[in-house]
Amino acid sequence: MPRSIGVLAREHIAVGLVEEHQVVAPVLVFPGKGDDPDALQAIPAEAIGERIREQIEQVGQGQDIDVIGVGFPGITREGIIEESPNLQQVKGLNLQAILSSASLKGGAPVPVRIFNDADVMAAGIAATQGQLDRSIRVWTLGNGIGFGRYPWTEGTWEGGHSVVTLDPKEHFCGCGGKGHLEGIMGLRAMRLRFWDMEPEEVFENARTGDARCGTFVKLWHRALAAATATSIHMDGPGKFFVTGPTARFIDLGLMGMYLHEMVKMTPLQGSIFEMISTSDEIGIIGATVNAERVTRTT
Ligand SMILES: [Zn+2]
Repeated sequence: MPRSIGVLAREHIAVGLVEEHQVVAPVLVFPGKGDDPDALQAIPAEAIGERIREQIEQVGQGQDIDVIGVGFPGITREGIIEESPNLQQVKGLNLQAILSSASLKGGAPVPVRIFNDADVMAAGIAATQGQLDRSIRVWTLGNGIGFGRYPWTEGTWEGGHSVVTLDPKEHFCGCGGKGHLEGIMGLRAMRLRFWDMEPEEVFENARTGDARCGTFVKLWHRALAAATATSIHMDGPGKFFVTGPTARFIDLGLMGMYLHEMVKMTPLQGSIFEMISTSDEIGIIGATVNAERVTRTT
């Protein structure tokens, strides 16, 4: 039975073998547990590509591989990483070309497709939640704010950089843009704003009545509601999953209330938020789902 290989690149790179939307062998991860979490930042772009290629060869040893799918953070187009704010050295890297040279069983070239990491997460959630026949959107909340959608379509979709305020003092986004969602919600942005406390403490202090923290927590929720409302006004209502390291701070009741204030046209109402925990495996599965769909239609 032909299998696919999925790759998810985030803080680390995970590579796995997938059959029928399930990971069927141990996932290879680098840097591994115990290694420096910022190790990837120090590796030159080509070497990151070569390392992924080696892991693909290891995972695919002796297997009939149909397709290789990769989820990589940043803007990717036609196999090239055009911009990746958290791994700046890879800008311009032709990852598809490096991975296409992987030597696999039979020696025939295996198609490689590169996607944004948030999009493969959306595809993985769709596959593992029985939602492959509908359209879903996914917010991933961490240092950066990822916006993924399934089914995958060509486009930029940098929803994390949606402008949610016209206040020129809102300048904490990692990309340098003013008024961006990530500049309010991102972990790094929160640390820049509250240099005297950790994000956990900000949310805790808001609960116990601290006015400054309380105001910020409302802004934090309104920002995500605003970006979601923009997506609804562009793309229609639907299901929005929320995941990632800081998704636990979300008050879904508050989100629903703010969204209701922001989306008033009747045909656009009825969107739902759902929290979900995700893993490397879900991203790996999603990468293969997207790669299989794209290679089938082209
Ligand atoms: Zn930005």
